Amino acid sequence: SEPLNEAGVQNKASKNGNSTTPDYRAQAQRLRPQREALPIFTARDAIIDHISNHPTVVVVGETGSGKTTQIPQYLLESGFTTRGQTAIAVTQPRRVAATSIAKRVAEEVGTPLGGRVGYTIRFEDCSSPLTQLRFCTDGLLLREILADPLLRRYSVVVLDEAHERTLRTDILLGMLKDIQRERARVAELNRSAQQPPDEPQADHRSRGTHVKFEEDAEQPAPAAAAVTDAVHGDVTGLDDLRVIVMSATLDAERFSAYFDSAPILYVAGRQFPVTTYYTATPQADYLDAAHLAALQIHTETPSASGDILVFLAGQEDIENVERLLIDSAASLPAGVPALLPCPIFAALPQAQQARVFDPAPEFTRKVILATNIAETSLTIPGIRHVIDSGVHKVRGFDPRVGESLLVEPISKSSARQRTGRAGREAAGHSYRLYTEADYAQLPEDSVPEIKRCQLTMVVLQLKAAGVRDPMQFDFMDRPSRKALRHALLELYALEALDDRGELTELGRWMSEFPLEPSYAKVIHASAASGCTREAIDIVALLSVDSLFYVPADKRDESNAAQMAFRSSDGDHLTFLNLLRAFTKAHGDKDWCQEHFVNRRNIKHVLDVRQQLSRLCVRLGMNVERSCGSDLTVVLRCFLAGFFHNCALLQPDGSYRSLNGSQTVHIHPGSSLFGKKTPAIFYDQLVFTNKLHARAVSAADPLWIANAAPKLYGRLASSQVH
Ligand code: ADP
Ligand code: MG
Repeated sequence: SEPLNEAGVQNKASKNGNSTTPDYRAQAQRLRPQREALPIFTARDAIIDHISNHPTVVVVGETGSGKTTQIPQYLLESGFTTRGQTAIAVTQPRRVAATSIAKRVAEEVGTPLGGRVGYTIRFEDCSSPLTQLRFCTDGLLLREILADPLLRRYSVVVLDEAHERTLRTDILLGMLKDIQRERARVAELNRSAQQPPDEPQADHRSRGTHVKFEEDAEQPAPAAAAVTDAVHGDVTGLDDLRVIVMSATLDAERFSAYFDSAPILYVAGRQFPVTTYYTATPQADYLDAAHLAALQIHTETPSASGDILVFLAGQEDIENVERLLIDSAASLPAGVPALLPCPIFAALPQAQQARVFDPAPEFTRKVILATNIAETSLTIPGIRHVIDSGVHKVRGFDPRVGESLLVEPISKSSARQRTGRAGREAAGHSYRLYTEADYAQLPEDSVPEIKRCQLTMVVLQLKAAGVRDPMQFDFMDRPSRKALRHALLELYALEALDDRGELTELGRWMSEFPLEPSYAKVIHASAASGCTREAIDIVALLSVDSLFYVPADKRDESNAAQMAFRSSDGDHLTFLNLLRAFTKAHGDKDWCQEHFVNRRNIKHVLDVRQQLSRLCVRLGMNVERSCGSDLTVVLRCFLAGFFHNCALLQPDGSYRSLNGSQTVHIHPGSSLFGKKTPAIFYDQLVFTNKLHARAVSAADPLWIANAAPKLYGRLASSQVH
């Protein structure tokens, strides 16, 4: 039914080496029985019925019951996209979930990915104007609101994984509530103004059901219409926005209360018993423990007893355990089946991410290495053994220290979800790498991210979306006034807000970037200094966790290899040197191996760089302008965004942060480790046993003074002797 588009997408696919044209419809037919066997299938009509009759519905169902993959399809099949004129957005907190679920759903619908079903995530768009079901990250939909304040291309927004309460999900909840109200009002005005002729109803929605909000009564209709027209242009034909909030845990009451007592639908799951084991003593190194546990399960149970899923904290953990397992897999005793580690994380190329879903080859057992993405977002078939490290990575924020990424114990609720993954298809086993006493100490739930994160970027987005006073925003859980104030002050210091708290032109420009405002500011500053090329390169390089890899047993070789790229100015230029060397050598697999460079990550850097360049070109920048050999120019630009992340050398040889007077230590992996320079700036602080600055470069105190004269002007005068 969409020949043009299908052809277009197929061409793209064949360029990627996929020369055979899959028979999409036949595949969809094949998957149909699987779809109909899911627990949610019996609730299909009830779900559609509720969604037709209520502006907001909360759906609660156990992981794997079919919420994410099925409900969007039910909507599609039931005409909620009004013959392709509007679309359905499904948000996910994580990129990997958005892409892999889109892929699965495209298969089930029987359409090429990027056709009727597609996805859009930061720096990657696999959709077309004909896309009716769009999977995206919550952050991406937030950005879309900036360009399309009423989200008029969507008839339904499905907010998935709402129980995770990510910062962006929470902001979206508030924005969607607002948009719903506005659209209900506009739709009502349209209806009364136009008296639509009696047309046959092609879809399930009864045109009569729309919700009256109390605000309607207070606002004189004509004036409101004028305002709406002025702000949003032509709104004729705009219909109500349906919102579906989906959660895997039983905390639905709060969502329901927030959306004016929206109905809650409970979908039964299917769960087999899972036996839980604890360690007798606390484990000093959960990576080692995870590796040994996986080996033990593999050698002591038949591989027919199912695959293994290991929960770890992040990409670095995953790659470490992957390497340990690859080594052990090479020397398994005779007769033991092969062991295949399958990592999954965002920087991994699509094709490799998809591997976790493929059935293991014969006489092989898969060990899936994942973060808490596999807790509720993704259901991987075939898992019967779960190994739970008991930790995850969380973003934290302390105004005196700045943002940090910490490895912390999970909540009881997460531990239960992880355990549950072992019992989807049959009875299973869950191995917790911590003691039962430690489990008892875990908090019941995690704190919503909005209560513990830096808010600078979302406050900028709220401002750009026209929210005058973020302090008054309708948050489901209100962040502290202190955190909000801090974000506003930070934006003021970055000149994104003026002294009346209004968005500046620069602020609006910065809000175009899917980046923390500090990076956008650096890119902005680079235009005046003529080093946009280097600025984009370095910002892209900073977007990945690690560029080098340091195997535990080859630490010295790895460090020696890194020396080749080292800049005495610090890590920012070291990274740039690496990128240039990689490009010059047309860096292939061998080159990366020889130089201990993380190939997956550097490829991701190239993608991000390309996307950023495109965005800059669209904003009228000359992305080819380069500062040539004087690279300190680009370092100075970084101060325009990172003047808060500076520390000064103290007489005793330590560094003390400028904005919080904390002692910070240069990370042992940094090119400046052990070096003394009057001032440093850094990309981030990480708290392990002490505060470590990561991605550190040398700065001249004068640069800091020039970048933020109001705050740090004193540094300039103290330089004059
Ligand atoms: P929920 O959102 O309720 O957790 P999903 O809709 O994500 O459930 O998954 C429903 C079922 O679809 C899973 O139990 C799994 O069997 C199947 N499934 C989902 N994604 C894939 C995939 N990529 N490959 C194979 N099966 C999948
Ligand atoms: Mg789901």
